[in-house]
Amino acid sequence: MYRIIVIVLTVGVLACASASAWVYPEHRDIAVAAVLKLDSARRVHLDSLWSWARIGHETRLPSSIVIPELPEQPNYIDWGAWPAIGGDHSCSPSQMLETVLNTEWILDVARITEHFKRELLAAKHQAKRLNALRDQDLQLQRADPEYATRAGSNNVHFLLARTSVSTSPRVYLEGSLSQGGEINALAVYIWYHYRAMAKISQLRSPGLTEVQRNQIALAALADEAFGIHFLEDVYAAGHVAGTWGNASLRKGTHDYYNEHGYETHTWAGKPVVLMGDAYMRPEDIEAPAHAVRISLEQFVDAFRGVDPYAGHEFNDREIEGLFMTEPDTLNVCQNNDIPGKIASSELMPQYVSVIQHTPMPALKAGYGELPRFRTELGGFIGIAPFVRGAGWDGGFDPVQTSALGIASLGMNLRLGLGLDGVTSEAGDGLVFIEFGIAHDNASTANFSTDSALADYGDVLAAIPSRSSFTTRIRMPFYVIPGDLILGALLIAPFSLQTYTQMAVVAGNGGVIPWQSGIATDFGRFQFILGREVGVNFYGFGSGSQKILVPYQDDESNQLAELLDLRSIQVEAPIVEWRPFRTFSVDQSSSMVVQFYGAADIPVYWKSHLTPPTTYDLKTRWGLGVRVAFDWRYYY
Ligand SMILES: [Zn+2]
Repeated sequence: MYRIIVIVLTVGVLACASASAWVYPEHRDIAVAAVLKLDSARRVHLDSLWSWARIGHETRLPSSIVIPELPEQPNYIDWGAWPAIGGDHSCSPSQMLETVLNTEWILDVARITEHFKRELLAAKHQAKRLNALRDQDLQLQRADPEYATRAGSNNVHFLLARTSVSTSPRVYLEGSLSQGGEINALAVYIWYHYRAMAKISQLRSPGLTEVQRNQIALAALADEAFGIHFLEDVYAAGHVAGTWGNASLRKGTHDYYNEHGYETHTWAGKPVVLMGDAYMRPEDIEAPAHAVRISLEQFVDAFRGVDPYAGHEFNDREIEGLFMTEPDTLNVCQNNDIPGKIASSELMPQYVSVIQHTPMPALKAGYGELPRFRTELGGFIGIAPFVRGAGWDGGFDPVQTSALGIASLGMNLRLGLGLDGVTSEAGDGLVFIEFGIAHDNASTANFSTDSALADYGDVLAAIPSRSSFTTRIRMPFYVIPGDLILGALLIAPFSLQTYTQMAVVAGNGGVIPWQSGIATDFGRFQFILGREVGVNFYGFGSGSQKILVPYQDDESNQLAELLDLRSIQVEAPIVEWRPFRTFSVDQSSSMVVQFYGAADIPVYWKSHLTPPTTYDLKTRWGLGVRVAFDWRYYY
């Protein structure tokens, strides 16, 4: 069990790091807007670079570098989409280019995300938006199985926190770029942007063959696009709001500010309200597109060889690995530290001229820090008081066939692991185990059908009031209930990657995602059959529990006999409704209504007469509703 918890926890931490800044269509829209904003002289140069780059790839790469309005089913990938694929669907420019040019699944990604973009435009309610996001995430996970797990646990899509209020953009940037420091969005942007400029500047040298020229143009465009992904990321509220703390705090803060927005200034002093991740408004394109445009201007200028690039020597004495004709291979999913010298400091003013249009990040931990939030990620303890009521097909005695009802009150202690929102709000990675006690009232029906006994009420109930030990377990599954436990033993030791993907799919509703949550204006619904099971043990404590059963003595007198009884009642919830849920920094509370099927199986009974009477007790079947208050404290 410990092993499973550790592995599932790993999944949560990995998945949390994959928190994206913008969804695919948003990343793409920013890049497209930036290209459209370029002045015509530079645009002509960029277009000719594109026309060289696409030679030999004419079916995959459209003739125009950006296609402002995509068709519903695009069968090509324009350059505008490259920054959306970089970072989120690939780990390096080299991987990104391979994916763009040579895989079929990336076309599926383009179609899924285009469909999602249209859904989002049409969505009027928050519930619709959440469901569209859920559908997209599930489809993307199928098209690109590494989608949720690709990103490592680093902060590469985020900005470093600002250390003091007096930090200038240049000092902040130098701090972000220092070799050996923590990897961050600006560091990798400058890393690829510099290499893109270095590559493209080679086209100025005479004597290149046409093949070399095309290859360099393609590689340089890939580096620039991959870098731009991270330049766009720094405009997402959740990526600016401060990234320290544990996984739960980082993910919670990220999600909160992406949804609710964050007011700040750019380094140049322009006030901005930032949003993120499927919450981009049309006016939010403006600021990042402006910075991306300046980056593209520098890229084109390096190609043309105008100042300051005319006098700048891009050489590999200072920066390792330049002058390659291939796209860069620095892997952002695996490197947690800045691995080498990022770029020549000679072009610092150029970098600053891009960065000054980016938002100032929030302060580091300490006085003046921004309020931060957690998500339901990590271990928790909780209590879950509940009431339930069920209708049953009769008593244990086969002669007791009249339907009866039983209501109970109970209280469970809970120990668990929250992985809620592993990839979206539709996900449910909740794993817990509960122990507690419950008390049932007497059944509504009498043990005997004799109408003369009807007035004795509870005293002669078919099933008297009794109490039970209760236990409950919940865990998502991939195909069949419990398979994550088998997987932890049989698959995880050989491929943690495969197991992680399996767990993410399970958390999001399974292979056929019939268990993923459905958001509505009046709460969240979810099919949970097989995901949760409750077991109640009756008569296992000190003192036997007894029931009355009809007994006929030797003279044919109708009497009753008391039987000792132990039974095990299994409860399988089918559908769950969560009308509300609130979450503070470290605790959550919600109400859960579950509709369940149950079986009450007699496992032991004993007659006290001599000789003992023999009875053949039967399993009872029931349907019920359980309402639980669910309080958790996360530690
Ligand atoms: Zn990103």
